[in-house]
Amino acid sequence: MGKYLRIEEMLSSIHNMDGDSYTIMEVCGSHTEAIKKYGIGELVKPQIRLLSGPGCPVCVTSEDYIDKAIELTKVKDIIITTFGDMLRVKGRKENLLEQKEKGRDIRVLYTPIDAIDLARAHMNKEIIFLAVGFETTAPIIALAIKKARQEKLHNLSFYIGLKRMKPILRYIFNDSDHGIKGLICPGHVASVVGEHYFEFISKEYGISGVIAGFESKDVVQALYYLSLNKEKSGYFNNLYRQCVSYQGNQKAIELMEEVFDDCDAKLRGIGIIEGAGFHIQKEYVEYDASVRYQLEEHNVNKMTDKEINKCQDIKRNKCVCSDILLGKSEPKDCPLYGGKCTPEHPVGPCMISGEGSCAISYKYLV
Ligand code: SF4
Repeated sequence: MGKYLRIEEMLSSIHNMDGDSYTIMEVCGSHTEAIKKYGIGELVKPQIRLLSGPGCPVCVTSEDYIDKAIELTKVKDIIITTFGDMLRVKGRKENLLEQKEKGRDIRVLYTPIDAIDLARAHMNKEIIFLAVGFETTAPIIALAIKKARQEKLHNLSFYIGLKRMKPILRYIFNDSDHGIKGLICPGHVASVVGEHYFEFISKEYGISGVIAGFESKDVVQALYYLSLNKEKSGYFNNLYRQCVSYQGNQKAIELMEEVFDDCDAKLRGIGIIEGAGFHIQKEYVEYDASVRYQLEEHNVNKMTDKEINKCQDIKRNKCVCSDILLGKSEPKDCPLYGGKCTPEHPVGPCMISGEGSCAISYKYLV
């Protein structure tokens, strides 16, 4: 990997880079956090332009999904469980936090495995876990589903809103206007799916990629290697070998493959992306809340008129979330940023979750 360089030396090398500004995207909330927290985006200007992509799974959870989850909270003897960030995400009108304040039984869990204990402790209730996340979270959800079946727990099910990173990246790169030349690949996802999963970005799209860890130095190092190899179209390097192997975590991959198939998925602010979702396989269908409660989340082939209007509504409100999620704009490009839209009063999805680009930018006042 070459000789050890201090951050100052790597930054100096970036500043000596010739030619046009180099546009690099990252698609992971933890990378966004490190970049904003340490002002890395400012430190590498004007040679590098950094953009955040759709790395926050909560931000891209569709309004449809939230509305259906809200409907479930109204059913007698149901306990809804999920991760904390999900409570503030709005559906078309309300969020789960408002339902909780109305007395509906909604509980925050740290891991889906806790839903198993809850189901055992409340055999007279139905427990539903709202499962969102990327390939990082999918294996633990798969494990919880397997465990539920092994223990013959019939009062537990999972409402799946998980997303796959590769089809989302393809969707972005298939847009000829994207202008992205480099990608900092998400280290957490890569630790599960392996280095090979991301090679397509260089092989198929000629975009350079580096798999990186989450410390400020890791991010600067990723930018340094990308800039050093700027002229090599499709340069690829794994700088996070301590956690990311070439093939990935086989046990986690097998778990995902055993329990899930892929399906189309609806992403908030973007629309439907082919193959970007997870869907519980037939063998485990008993644990699929969308089947048990006939939620039809997988029927995402068409957007309703209402949903199309909502997308147009977002644009009319001047929220540029769609462009931010697709790497075409930055939070400060939005006229509502920090004024009408703040973490206390979010207008768009990127301000809702602590992992959203707008929320992170606002936190560090950049
Ligand atoms: Fe959307 Fe708010 Fe971000 Fe603007 S600041 S893009 S309204 S989330």
